[in-house]
Amino acid sequence: MDYDVIVIGAGPGGVFTAYELTKLRPELRVAVFEGGHALRDRKCPIDGDKIKSCIGCRSCSIMSGFGGAGAFSDGKYNITNDFGGTLYEYIGKKQALELMHYVDSLNMQFGGAGTKLYSTAGTKFKKLCIQNDLHLLDASVRHLGTDINYVVLENLYAHLRTRVDFFFDSPVETVAVLEDGYEIRSGGTAYRCRQCVISVGRSGSKWMERTCREIGIETKSNRVDLGVRVELPAEVFSHLTDELYESKIVYRTEKYGDLVRTFCMNPKGAVVNENTNGIVTVNGHSFEDPARQTENTNFALLVAKHFSEPFKDSNGYGESIARLSNMLGGGVMVQRFGDLIRGQRSTPKRIEESFTTPTLGATPGDLSLVLPKRILDGIIEMIYALDKIAPGTANDDTLLYGVEVKFYNMEVAVDEHLETRCPGLYVIGDGSGITHSLSHASASGVFVAREIARK
Ligand SMILES: Cc1cc2nc3c(=O)[nH]c(=O)nc-3n(C[C@H](O)[C@H](O)[C@H](O)COP(=O)(O)OP(=O)(O)OC[C@H]3O[C@@H](n4cnc5c(N)ncnc54)[C@H](O)[C@@H]3O)c2cc1C
Repeated sequence: MDYDVIVIGAGPGGVFTAYELTKLRPELRVAVFEGGHALRDRKCPIDGDKIKSCIGCRSCSIMSGFGGAGAFSDGKYNITNDFGGTLYEYIGKKQALELMHYVDSLNMQFGGAGTKLYSTAGTKFKKLCIQNDLHLLDASVRHLGTDINYVVLENLYAHLRTRVDFFFDSPVETVAVLEDGYEIRSGGTAYRCRQCVISVGRSGSKWMERTCREIGIETKSNRVDLGVRVELPAEVFSHLTDELYESKIVYRTEKYGDLVRTFCMNPKGAVVNENTNGIVTVNGHSFEDPARQTENTNFALLVAKHFSEPFKDSNGYGESIARLSNMLGGGVMVQRFGDLIRGQRSTPKRIEESFTTPTLGATPGDLSLVLPKRILDGIIEMIYALDKIAPGTANDDTLLYGVEVKFYNMEVAVDEHLETRCPGLYVIGDGSGITHSLSHASASGVFVAREIARK
């Protein structure tokens, strides 16, 4: 055996697996294979000047590399079982929360000390929301910010590099089951290990699907979330964001009874492109450092779409809609709320004259040509509902970027140890379909490391 444990993917799931393993069992030989670059080499070429939109790099620096999809994220660690994944269904609510708090303590130890922990406990906004038919979910949110999140990752890497063998720019091609372990292939070379932890995140979704098919592990997939990213002047939401930082608010539409929810709120942040398997969608982040903040706040409004038999390819459905926006806009599209309501396309002139200045160079267009009516109706209804608790949300100049798609990896069949039917083969993080967030993915990494150490 070359290694006792091989971890595939150096996102939060993989990094925290490696951390906890080397802490509990320093004698183990651990390797981490990562398809993307080392942290210092991760650089998205979009500079807003020469390169304005996604050029489809072979390895997307936003999604891949040490730190995973989380490396340039807002670094919002939501400590809750109410959203961010269903890890608690496997390991119990108490343990899931304990692990998220443990990850938080590690983040503080590795450079995050001094960052703020927000909480919905006792907030007056809960009442305000209910009075307006909106529902605020409970959570504590540690906001590291894109800058401090990066520092934490740098420090974690400095700690791990002498304890773990890192292989960067080394996508794993195949995983084969041996009698007493696993053989992975990367760059034409085979490496053997006794136990293998797969943590390939969203960018590894297609690879994960193929690997499960090859090894005979069951998967299921039936959900995708579709919507837009809303951008407005930070003052509109400042009463909420100053106290809660991020508010997860859910609304049930009158028209169809669909649930629309806010997602990934970034006060004084920026809207960014996200490239998943060559399809450009939208996301957002913000810095902790006031000097790097913008005058806008952004958040997503998403509608979950569940499919029933015989349709199984929910991600394919989301991809098709994102592709449509890429086809019409050459990438991400932006539209003023006022233009959408009046049934007219936003033009470069209308965007230029808008009082809200976009933080992302997107193509002005018409989102009604992209998003299904039912989803768009739900989003419009929610914008009017939010306007009651944050007046100004439904202003003409509120910007809507499309499309935002939250792809859910298909759920991989694992047991309460996050172990597949193959002994010693674990699937964790967003790649497992069980987690959808930094805190849940990290917690799943710590959990699996403890399982391996215990054995
Ligand atoms: C712009 C942006 C902002 C976000 N903001 C937040 C936020 O504020 N809060 C929050 O909770 N979540 C946020 N998220 C989501 C969060 O980043 C993910 O939930 C989290 O990173 C999942 O961790 P993971 O380790 O499971 O997977 P990932 O972070 O996706 O890491 C998986 C890694 O595996 C690698 N990989 C894939 N396939 C292979 C292969 N075959 N061989 C080797 N390596 C492979 C990838 O390159 C990647 O580096 C954001 C995401 C983005 C893109």
